Amino acid sequence: MIPFLDMKSVYTELKPELDAAYARVMESGWFVLGKEVEAFEQEYAAFCGTRHCVGLGNGLEALELTLRAWNIGPGDEVIVPSNTYIATWLAVTASGATVVPVEPTPAGPNIDPDRIAAAITPRTRAIMPVHLYGEPADMDAVMRLADKHGLKVVEDVAQAQGAKVRGRRTGSLGHAGAHSFFPTKNIGAFGDGGAVTTDDAAVADRLRTMRNYGSKVKYVNIERGYNSRLDELHAAFLRVRLRKLDEWNERRRAVAARYADRLAGIAGLGLPRVPQWAEPVWHLYVVRTPRRTGLMEALNAEGIGSLIHYPIPPHRQQAYADLGLPEGAYPLAEDLANTVLSLPMGPHVALDSVDEIAAAVRRYMLRSGAE
Ligand SMILES: *Cc1c(COP(=O)(O)O)cnc(C)c1O
Repeated sequence: MIPFLDMKSVYTELKPELDAAYARVMESGWFVLGKEVEAFEQEYAAFCGTRHCVGLGNGLEALELTLRAWNIGPGDEVIVPSNTYIATWLAVTASGATVVPVEPTPAGPNIDPDRIAAAITPRTRAIMPVHLYGEPADMDAVMRLADKHGLKVVEDVAQAQGAKVRGRRTGSLGHAGAHSFFPTKNIGAFGDGGAVTTDDAAVADRLRTMRNYGSKVKYVNIERGYNSRLDELHAAFLRVRLRKLDEWNERRRAVAARYADRLAGIAGLGLPRVPQWAEPVWHLYVVRTPRRTGLMEALNAEGIGSLIHYPIPPHRQQAYADLGLPEGAYPLAEDLANTVLSLPMGPHVALDSVDEIAAAVRRYMLRSGAE
């Protein structure tokens, strides 16, 4: 049996350090906005290469509060990928702004800068590129457009902590980076968590106020804020995970390289293509095939887990039925939704398992291709 995801090994491998972090926080008697969050914020900002980091409740609110910190809301337009997890869109619509979806590059999975220019209107305020699957979006091109049109850029880094574009970390490439520490992400807490990284001191300061009821001084509320705080316990765990992030991403790279080698040259199977300027962190390893249903069943029959990220693009979700975007509105996103399949990926996937998975994929693709 090869599960899609092995979360237990995270604890097994880091048990002494995580148990010590737990004891430290429990014995401190301080659980919200304290020393652990402060220390993690400093360490994570240094890791990403930004001046500031603000710990928040989750990734969705990291995206939404960043827009609100820029006073983006009703009447404003924000450019988002048509091909993304729905949280990207939800952050924009929660702020009251309008989503303007843009299709991915033909190679996928990320937003196509060549198509962004055509989507910019006088109402456009921001671009929200997503580094989907841990594969960085073309940030150089996005930032050139943003500079030219005076737009803000918030990167959705939820799936790409530690990835690089030309040697610089995701989360430091736009005006702000929104991170999720959901347990399954490359650096995850053991519950919900999030953060914003930025060089902009004013935005960091505003986010610190917003996350805490709009208050800097206890019981003095300077704006109508939120409760969106990273907990001390999670921050203490994240400090342990952060020390391992590069090493664990390296292990993901080895798994991805093994897949690329073992899955090469299979007819009807598309593999991820990495641009020469990008250093992905392989949150997911996503292949493409029109024979996805059969492949999934064949893998399942051999005890190999796989998942679809994501089966329904945001514009086809009932949640956005009111936008009236019909089937065919974003054909590239729809085609990806119909053909992508995520194979087991993570720092605890053995290379022998990759060989087994790849052999099973090859057997099914040969068999079904001959039919
Ligand atoms: C996980 C994820 C989010 C949301 O993060 P949460 O911490 O779950 O709120 C946003 N965008 C993308 C691309 C994600 O994968």
